[in-house]
Amino acid sequence: MDYEEQLREKEKQVRKILAPYCKLEGIVGMEQPLFYRNKVHAVFGEDQKHRAISGIYEERTHRIVPVDGCLIENQKADAIIVSIREMLPSFKIRPYNEDTGYGLLRHVLIRTGQTSGQIMVVLVLASPILPSKNNFVKALLKRHPEITTIVINVNNRSTSMVLGEKEQVIYGKGYIEDTLCGKVFRISPRSFYQVNPVQTEVLYAKAMEYAALTGKETVVDAYCGTGTIGIIVSDKAKQVIGVELNADAVRDARNNAKINQVRNIQFYQNDAGCFLLEMEAQGAKVDVVLMDPPRSGSSEEFLAAVARMAPEKVVYISCNPETLGRDLKYLTGKGYRAEKAVAVDMFPFTGHVETVVMMKKESVNLVQNINTTRGRI
Ligand code: SAH
Repeated sequence: MDYEEQLREKEKQVRKILAPYCKLEGIVGMEQPLFYRNKVHAVFGEDQKHRAISGIYEERTHRIVPVDGCLIENQKADAIIVSIREMLPSFKIRPYNEDTGYGLLRHVLIRTGQTSGQIMVVLVLASPILPSKNNFVKALLKRHPEITTIVINVNNRSTSMVLGEKEQVIYGKGYIEDTLCGKVFRISPRSFYQVNPVQTEVLYAKAMEYAALTGKETVVDAYCGTGTIGIIVSDKAKQVIGVELNADAVRDARNNAKINQVRNIQFYQNDAGCFLLEMEAQGAKVDVVLMDPPRSGSSEEFLAAVARMAPEKVVYISCNPETLGRDLKYLTGKGYRAEKAVAVDMFPFTGHVETVVMMKKESVNLVQNINTTRGRI
């Protein structure tokens, strides 16, 4: 589908879901909607002649579709994956076979820093020993001197999760850094980082604009990942509190605050819903909630606590219009009014779309009026 048409389709989809709550300002597309993915993953296997192949799983199967290049993926990352595959025979490394359990290399994950140019290669192995490790590193760096760090990740479980728990850094620092909205962020193999850095800046700028902070607010950055949004808005807030479930991401977030010398931010590792309940129990006051939940959306526990704590504003950043609609229905039934919304195309050439919605607490009078009117009817 032509890119302009994709944008129109996505805009239509979001507009329809938002229709009961508020107008959509429009959709912000990409000027160059290709090669935007900074994170590329390839699964490794063998064809019938036992030659190494790499690519992606066919939908809902574990059949590997060979992929050497993809129009939405970072091109250097794709080239590195092909190189690794070509190097395997001379190092006598066999791809892992899910059926027999033989072989070593399961996946390769590449993360690239758009601004920094740094590149991380994660080799996901079925067991911890990579034969002739040092020579392998040397040979890979010779082909791709742009690689800044290489990490072995051990995944010995039969699972569809790509990454296991154990990690060993075999070259460089074990993480990369990148710059977003003027702040530097550390990205480690397992922490969440937006996959489209160009549009992430557009998205965060919109969230900032909607939050319209003055410097006096206590802000909660819920589902904060590596702390990107909270750190970016910290200059304009009195205090920021970030909450995130993934422990690696929280560690990165704390480091990121340090790197950027942000002192008015604190990060907590917890389920966002549980955390907000605790804040509520302690009588904490929050002015603005920025929330950026995963595709499954937020939990009722979290939304109910938001409604009871009654921050002036909620800025909801959503990567799934369906769950956004569900959560908007809840919050607008609990004293919030959706005022503005915009869609941002973070994922060109896929069916996904990101949306930012700004909600305001209805004034007490207004809520009472509505209640009395309802009573009369
Ligand atoms: N705001 C960040 C991350 C958004 S992705 C950014 O823009 O980069 C959503 C994040 O929610 C992920 O980091 C995921 O680990 C986290 N998450 C998922 N379920 C959660 C929960 N129940 N409580 C807190 N965080 C959760």
